[in-house]
Amino acid sequence: MPHPAWIEIDLGQLRRNLARIGRLVAPARLAFVVKANAYGHGLVPVAKGVEEHVDLFAVACADEAIALQEAGVRKPLLVLGAVDQEQIDTLIERDIEFTISSPFKGRLVTEACRRKGKPARIHIEVDTGMQRTGMRPDTTIRFCQELDRRWLIPCGIYSHFANADQQDVQDQLAAFQQLLTHPAVASIPLRHLANSAGALYAPASRLDMVRVGLLAYGYPAGTLEGILPCFSLKSRISYFKVVEAGQGISYGHTFVTDRRMRIVTIPVGYGDGYRRALSNKGSVLIRGKRYPIVGAICMDQFLVALGDEEAYVGEEAVLIGRQGDGEISIEEIADLCGTIPYEILCQFTERIPRRYVDAVPTAPMV
Ligand SMILES: *Cc1c(COP(=O)(O)O)cnc(C)c1O
Repeated sequence: MPHPAWIEIDLGQLRRNLARIGRLVAPARLAFVVKANAYGHGLVPVAKGVEEHVDLFAVACADEAIALQEAGVRKPLLVLGAVDQEQIDTLIERDIEFTISSPFKGRLVTEACRRKGKPARIHIEVDTGMQRTGMRPDTTIRFCQELDRRWLIPCGIYSHFANADQQDVQDQLAAFQQLLTHPAVASIPLRHLANSAGALYAPASRLDMVRVGLLAYGYPAGTLEGILPCFSLKSRISYFKVVEAGQGISYGHTFVTDRRMRIVTIPVGYGDGYRRALSNKGSVLIRGKRYPIVGAICMDQFLVALGDEEAYVGEEAVLIGRQGDGEISIEEIADLCGTIPYEILCQFTERIPRRYVDAVPTAPMV
């Protein structure tokens, strides 16, 4: 029996998004951020499906990079997050590029390289104002002056914006550009700073490469012509019934029918990552029309009121995505849950299989 719900990823649309962004930022290179299971889209199938449109894949953790390499991805891989002692050896052996965000980590890696007799390919992370990770600019200059290039090959130097989505990047951009004029860092080949919002709104921040995640997946919708989401969540009606007026629905009876109505069950719940916050708030598309979720969302299922309209067991329900003229966007779901699209995309569990399709364009190529 196939699982009663699935996530559909349109790899053709994802490729069109990446090609569009590649043309926008050229001659800057395009690093595609595929951390957190490619924002829930599926790490390996996504990377393998788009490799020709990408110059580098960026991930958060060492094991994500190793999974890509073992799957046969040949483009350069960069680990953005912290790596621990055991992972350092593996990354050096595998020629995976990784981030040095403090002189202490630089010393650890240099020692590991000496021990192994093999240099490491590193990117130096600078903190220009996010206050999360990275060396301060003055520390970076000293680190670069003292860098033992026999063991640490500086492939890149980068920083990360805190407020690019509010289009507030000037201070961080200026601090990074100032640092890049210093002779100690001038010879580092790849200078990168912009995430999606930076790449879109602050062309000066594109530098040698952009690190794009959210925009490539198609969000926020309508920010750039030709960019569309490629993620849908679909299921099938698993049960149909007629409920009399005055009946409480689902756990806690938080919804009570005000008249006789048709109710269907959708076999998806918070155990799949479909948030309980959508209880009595969210909607689904059936036969291209929008219907309200009624009552509490359970771990494995929830209920939808059809009113007097028809739909039967086995028919497709779209929880996120398009059906007919209807659309339920990730942004809408995120707003209802009081969060951001990133968190919604990341939270769907392994229980929901990902299916990959190469749909015909729904909009002309730009
Ligand atoms: C996640 C991440 C990105 C991508 O951000 P988007 O807003 O999805 O484009 C870029 N750089 C770093 C360091 C990140 O952690």
